[in-house]
Amino acid sequence: MSKEAKTESMSLHPLGGGAEVTSEQEHLCVFGTGDMGRSLGQRLLQTGYKVAYGSRRPLGCGPVPQGAQVMSYADAAQLAGVIFVCIHREHYGLMEKLSSQLMGKVLVDVSNNPEQNLYPEANAVYLQRLLPGSHVVKAFNTLSAWALQNGPSDACRQVYVCGNSTEAKQAVAEVATKMGLTVLDRGSLSAAQELEDFPLQLFPEWRLPLQITIGLTAFFFFYLLIRDVIYSYVDQGKDISFRIMVSLANKVFPIVSLIMLSLCYLPGVIAAFLQLYRGTKYRRFPDWLDRWMLCRKQLGLLALALAFLHVLYTLIIPIRYYVRFKSWDYVITQVKENQTPKFDTSVAWRSDSYLSVGILGFGLYILLGITSLPSVSNALSWREFSYVQSKLGHVTLFLCTLHTYLYGWDRFLRPSTYKWYTPPGFMLSLVVPSVVLGLKLLLLVPCVDRSVTRIRRGWERTQPDEEKTLLT
Ligand code: NAP
Repeated sequence: MSKEAKTESMSLHPLGGGAEVTSEQEHLCVFGTGDMGRSLGQRLLQTGYKVAYGSRRPLGCGPVPQGAQVMSYADAAQLAGVIFVCIHREHYGLMEKLSSQLMGKVLVDVSNNPEQNLYPEANAVYLQRLLPGSHVVKAFNTLSAWALQNGPSDACRQVYVCGNSTEAKQAVAEVATKMGLTVLDRGSLSAAQELEDFPLQLFPEWRLPLQITIGLTAFFFFYLLIRDVIYSYVDQGKDISFRIMVSLANKVFPIVSLIMLSLCYLPGVIAAFLQLYRGTKYRRFPDWLDRWMLCRKQLGLLALALAFLHVLYTLIIPIRYYVRFKSWDYVITQVKENQTPKFDTSVAWRSDSYLSVGILGFGLYILLGITSLPSVSNALSWREFSYVQSKLGHVTLFLCTLHTYLYGWDRFLRPSTYKWYTPPGFMLSLVVPSVVLGLKLLLLVPCVDRSVTRIRRGWERTQPDEEKTLLT
């Protein structure tokens, strides 16, 4: 290749960092030979970049990926326009000393903190303050060293990027894209704090649904403990505390499951009535309703988990010692008294309907759970998704509620059901689902449905003032 042609195939980094790089193999620099530095360097090498490590001990640092060079921080900084800073914030003092070598370079801040609000400003903002002549870009901090090592198929593919220089962000985005990652631009460096908080979050969207599940489970456990076990002991002197393990659990789980399933559909109904009352969809919902709507998926998945437990507990009923003892006892008593039990068709109908409706409800429940998984919901059109989640969801709620009404059957009218004047747990569990289904039925009345549909298409009962002024 002639000298001129060679020069043509070489390009200066877009930010003019002073490093000449070939279009085939660009040099990138990684500061720090720790876990993150090694994993990132390995992926960069696999992507086809040349990697130069900056280290305090170029000769005595641990093993680095094959093919990478190790040198002092100052030397490595000279080689590349884009530098990945894989060192902890506490050691950024070192970077300040390199300010002249880092002038005009793109510094990718990958750092995280062990906890939130540890420092008054984000690490990336701090680095930018230390090195005003460099272009700091916050990126790659939401990927773990482990995920990077395992490749994009296993790792989370998204890289959040923010920074004040568009060119610097573009340079980093280009590297990330070549690595097979998806870049999400979060704007200027002021978003760095938010990005640094991401990896510290612990299931934030699950917190409220979990609190509701635990709260309801605890309430119904103690309620049923008092009504079933303590009542038996106090009123009849019978110790049935062994029932806590299976019978009580198998009452609490379906009760909480049904209430939580109805809680998934209640905010949608409230929202529809609110829109009807306001005559517009353009006014924001109250914060609590927004929060509630956002955690419906988690509420539904937890409700499904409890329904699963109910099914498992129900399946083991025939092998329980208590149940086997009771049936032997019944048979022996019948034999002793020389009696033949009469087949009651209405009881058979009730029991079969109760089981069948429960099975159908559970089948649809599983379908709802499956379609809420991102890999499945991504494959559905919006119409298909809302058909399953809304229409089939309400059918599921209806079937599960009917299952509970069939379980109650004539017990609603039996005075012995109301121990210590309290209603049984299954009756309490019917309140919210019945309200939701009743309100949903009201929304399905043609004139109401028409109004809601019109509002959701943008119709407003009263025109906004500015619009009136414009029209007159
Ligand atoms: P690490 O294993 O402790 O490595 C940190 C590196 O910093 C050291 O190997 C060292 O490299 C360099 N360093 C520079 N000055 C130092 C000093 N005064 N004392 C100690 N080390 C110094 O940490 P890491 O896990 O790679 O994390 C590096 C950065 O990446 C952190 O900010 C972290 O928050 C971020 N991060 C890590 C992960 C992860 O999964 N590990 C994920 C996302 C983000 P030399 O000895 O070669 O100089």
